[in-house]
Amino acid sequence: MPLDSHRSQPIVRDAVRPDGARWHSYSVMLSSLLLNNALLRPSAMWGQVSWLIAILCWLSFYSSSASAVDFAEARAKYFSGEYKACIELTRAEVDKGIWNDFWSRQLMQALMTVGRYEEARDVYKSVETKFATSIPLRVLAAQAYRFSGGAAVGKKLIDDIPALIQATPWRFSDRENMLALGKILLADGEDARVVLDAFYDRALKSDPKFVDAQIAIGELAIDKSDYQEAVKSLTRALELRPEDPQISFLLAKAWASSDAEKATKYLQAAVDLNPKHVDSLLMQAENYIDSEAYDEAERLLALVLEVNVHQPEAWALRGAMAHLKGDYKKEGECRTTALAKWQLNPAVDHLIGKKLSQHYRFTEGVAYQRRALKLDPGYMPAKFQLAQDLLRVGKDDEGWSIVDQVGAADKYNVVAFNLKTLQERLSKFTTMESDGFIVRMDARESKIYGDRVLDLLRRAKATLSEKYELQLTEPVTVEIFPQQSDFAIRTFGLPGGAGFLGVCFGKLITANSPASQGESPSNWESVLWHEFCHVITLQKTNNRMPRWLSEGISVYEELEANASWGQRLNPLYKKMLQSEDFVPLSKLSGAFLQPKSGLHLQFAYFESSLAVRYLIDNHGLPLLRKLLVDLGMGVPIEEAFARRYGDTAALDESFANYVKKLTAEFSPAADFSSEGLPRRAAVAELKEVLAEKPNSYAAQLTLVTQLISQENWPEAKLAVDRLLELYVDDAEPGGGISLKAKIARELNDEEAELSALTRLTELSSDNVAALLRLIQLHRESQAWEKLREAAGQLLAVQPLITTGHEAWIEAVEKLGMADAAIGALRALQQLEPPDPADLHYRLARSLFAVGELDDARREVLFALEETPRYREAQELLLAVSEARKTRADVDQAADIKTARAADEIEVIAPELDGVPPVPDKPRILP
Ligand SMILES: [Zn+2]
Repeated sequence: MPLDSHRSQPIVRDAVRPDGARWHSYSVMLSSLLLNNALLRPSAMWGQVSWLIAILCWLSFYSSSASAVDFAEARAKYFSGEYKACIELTRAEVDKGIWNDFWSRQLMQALMTVGRYEEARDVYKSVETKFATSIPLRVLAAQAYRFSGGAAVGKKLIDDIPALIQATPWRFSDRENMLALGKILLADGEDARVVLDAFYDRALKSDPKFVDAQIAIGELAIDKSDYQEAVKSLTRALELRPEDPQISFLLAKAWASSDAEKATKYLQAAVDLNPKHVDSLLMQAENYIDSEAYDEAERLLALVLEVNVHQPEAWALRGAMAHLKGDYKKEGECRTTALAKWQLNPAVDHLIGKKLSQHYRFTEGVAYQRRALKLDPGYMPAKFQLAQDLLRVGKDDEGWSIVDQVGAADKYNVVAFNLKTLQERLSKFTTMESDGFIVRMDARESKIYGDRVLDLLRRAKATLSEKYELQLTEPVTVEIFPQQSDFAIRTFGLPGGAGFLGVCFGKLITANSPASQGESPSNWESVLWHEFCHVITLQKTNNRMPRWLSEGISVYEELEANASWGQRLNPLYKKMLQSEDFVPLSKLSGAFLQPKSGLHLQFAYFESSLAVRYLIDNHGLPLLRKLLVDLGMGVPIEEAFARRYGDTAALDESFANYVKKLTAEFSPAADFSSEGLPRRAAVAELKEVLAEKPNSYAAQLTLVTQLISQENWPEAKLAVDRLLELYVDDAEPGGGISLKAKIARELNDEEAELSALTRLTELSSDNVAALLRLIQLHRESQAWEKLREAAGQLLAVQPLITTGHEAWIEAVEKLGMADAAIGALRALQQLEPPDPADLHYRLARSLFAVGELDDARREVLFALEETPRYREAQELLLAVSEARKTRADVDQAADIKTARAADEIEVIAPELDGVPPVPDKPRILP
């Protein structure tokens, strides 16, 4: 997961199908194939297999005569992970020479699961002629050959299939063969819709309880990121065959991107069914690696390797972990072991690269995907991962071109389709380039607050580059999306991710615009500051830093830049810090993995920022910078921390003490528990409670709200003052300070109201209601500088309404800062102004004041176009024309002077116009 600003909501993500509908009927296509004499095509290449599909569909399915009861025991052993028993049982049946390929298939599958590839191959050799028409057996054999040094033989086994079918098609039309064939065709790039309709759906129609077909549909849907479809098929499969751990595992995969809780539940169910289920153990290990819990991951990989010591994905994951820990020698050894059985296996490099990308090591990720593609140029997962990595490191041209290729080769790849659509939308965005930033925004939005975005980014760059001693050498791209779905697709490839405000990939920042955030948007300035801080820390460490540290620094720097940004200690966090929710500093990475709730994730951000504050307050910023340099050089995190901060246990203890002190000092008198308090109580009852528990914040708060509802303002004032004694910085919505403002307003105590509102906006960055009221009060009292500040704050939250711009313009005009009004006046033009002529006139006036005469003239002419008899506009036009004339005269005089000067220069340097001259002696210019 990339680095992000997070809100409390959980991540909800679901897939969209490109055509929004289920893949349609195949019959039309089939008849056209038959009409085209497709059957007569001589080629037996897999690339031209439409005839094959046609002929097989033309035949009707028959079910193989296998009796499920006979096989139940063998399969049960396999499902529960008793591989050895399964092998013994099935081998006995194979040795008896029973005329059914089930036994050989189950035996081969079990042998390969435990890594005995050569034996599996030999089983095939012994039954090859007997079951010559079994495609599933052939597929298993091809795998066995690949992993036992016979990749060419394995390939031939698959390549020969078309010719076999062409010779005697009716021998291949049972449902098992059709299913296996469908999988081969998909792997070969056949149209997913064709395979689904012609093979899978037809198989299901002939037998709705055909579990393997449901599983195959589920797998296909997962492959195309169509998770709704996957869940549907797999849920049905699970009902029919609850004992199969593979089904639960696939359900975990289908839920993984949208519902972590469900995914975990299914994954655990799979492992409960079979504690040696390799795919599930690998997925659990991956989850641990993602949360930097390497010891836990290693424990699970050891379990996998106990089952199959050659398991390539397990070795690939070990290799990825070694890389992340900076142990490159071990990484190489693991990769070699992963490829030992099948040297051209592209999945190994693909997996290592994917894991590195998930840890922001995009450049190394790109290298690994290229390596995978060298082994197998047609390996789609590597191609697609490469495209996404390239888009995240700013190599857009190559990235988009691969997305095109993937999209063309695989029409049902939902992610490719989504990205392609996004690219079209992005092409309509406005691009602004300045000071090392490339900012892409919706065209209208860029006119409204694009300049403010650039301004904010410039400030962030100046501040943070200096603080962390890093000069950026490459441009940073910032993309701001008015539609949340576009943001999600750019960021995750799929819709969803509703909890995220912004994400940083190192050189690329993606963010949500206020337009996508409904009534109460977050402060976009703080989001961009936070994300830009990730740019600095990620680049400083060459993307080698644990997530908690990067998040911790970003949240810390928000608060350093602006006291109203970032997260601050509150009663809830105090309680969490004093409970088992507190995580030792050395274990903070884990806090980001599968947090118990959205609140816990938010708390992880907060605690990480406290850890950073602790490190800086107690050990200084220079030491933290040194730590970042160490990380950047590839020193593993534990080692780097030990080098700079000493013993881990001591550091953990010292941080715990720091937090203890902090929480103890936070509103020490207040009792924040609400235990034993009446839920609803009258004023008198509350007063009784408070007589007993005078420090009860909850009772005092309820008392204030009760008094407010009774409109007993004088008493409410006393009560709220007491409330604020207990918790002075209570800027929560509905908390002490906002109640204080409300009461003061009712009592016409403007000074107190103003002071409460000001405090509120000092402590929270996106309280729109408070800002609107503050603007009103400052306007009434003609406090122009304060009005300008409040308007600026409002624009940092919601620039897409007129209020902030209008207040800003009024303030700066009164302050005599005409140039500062221009941007806001232009913004207002985009916001459907009620009086466009007036707006054109005011803009013209400001432009005139700063000497932008041509623009001023244009605007005043627009004003007169709207309202020809606009008196002030007419006068302004005259003044502008006069000024332009005067300037023209001056310019003419200056031109003459310049021309004369140019003549003189020409004598000295006649070659200036064209190729730069090579001076043969120093020239002295006037
Ligand atoms: Zn972040």
